[in-house]
Amino acid sequence: MHNDLVAALDIGGTKIAGALVDGHGTIAVRAQRPTPAKEDGETVMRAVEEVVQELAASPSWGRVSALGIGSAGPVDASAGTVSPVNVPGWRGYPLVRRVREATGGLPVELIGDGVAITAAEHWQGAAQGHENALCMVVSTGVGGGLVLGGRLHPGPTGNAGHIGHISVDLDGDLCPCGSRGCVERIASGPNIARRALDAGWRPGPDGDTSAAAVAAAAREGDPVAVASFERAARALAAGIAATATLVEIDIAVIGGGVGKAGDVLFTPLRKALADYATLSFVRRLTVAPARMGTDAGLVGAAAAALAGRTGVAAAGV
Ligand SMILES: [Zn+2]
Repeated sequence: MHNDLVAALDIGGTKIAGALVDGHGTIAVRAQRPTPAKEDGETVMRAVEEVVQELAASPSWGRVSALGIGSAGPVDASAGTVSPVNVPGWRGYPLVRRVREATGGLPVELIGDGVAITAAEHWQGAAQGHENALCMVVSTGVGGGLVLGGRLHPGPTGNAGHIGHISVDLDGDLCPCGSRGCVERIASGPNIARRALDAGWRPGPDGDTSAAAVAAAAREGDPVAVASFERAARALAAGIAATATLVEIDIAVIGGGVGKAGDVLFTPLRKALADYATLSFVRRLTVAPARMGTDAGLVGAAAAALAGRTGVAAAGV
């Protein structure tokens, strides 16, 4: 059974990726389409169906026993619906039923993209071997997921661990989610760049004002760029410390574009964590960069399909 194949879909605002994945997490077959994110819901679904059809054309399709979906959120795993912020044509969209129909009736497991990345890091990446972990994606947004007691903890609707929208600044700036001072409002890539620009940082001749450009400036010692990353690091540290204090995680794994900033992020983050994670049972908490690359969403969706297929933690999730 362990070498049986599952199918995986990673659905985001820019692309719909699909793969056949074996029981060791190795990707055997791939398919991909751009997400027609501005189009109506049925047009987006046709792109998903094309990816599924391309996978189904593989001679290995007959061995596929289940399909896992990691989707941009919010998702509602209990209802089998998705409402991705960046795909307005899908609101309460019955993705699980539609994908099941497209596959001729395979079992379908749905999880949010943050939870999918957590499943991948726990199965094969930086959280491997950890019984209690928080995995985060710090990028255009800030998402995440939890492993508790050695198992993935998606929560009833598949959104548990969504650390980007817990408040770490009570009177802070309004967040698009409706709350104030959210981790995402302070630590996401666009917010790191905005804060640096507001404080007088200016891009180089290439005009690049991304968080990656701010990270490069911070590495050169630009004090405004350094300060913007330090502020992001404090927000992340406060959110991670709160999570650790609530549920006793022992590692926080950070991926996504901002997670690739390296020491510019991780040095102030480890320092700030010592300020916020103060109780005896959270002092051993460590932070580590993510190890899974761009396939994390697919591998995590496959892990969910394997776990769902057997009803137990087949893939260590
Ligand atoms: Zn928010």
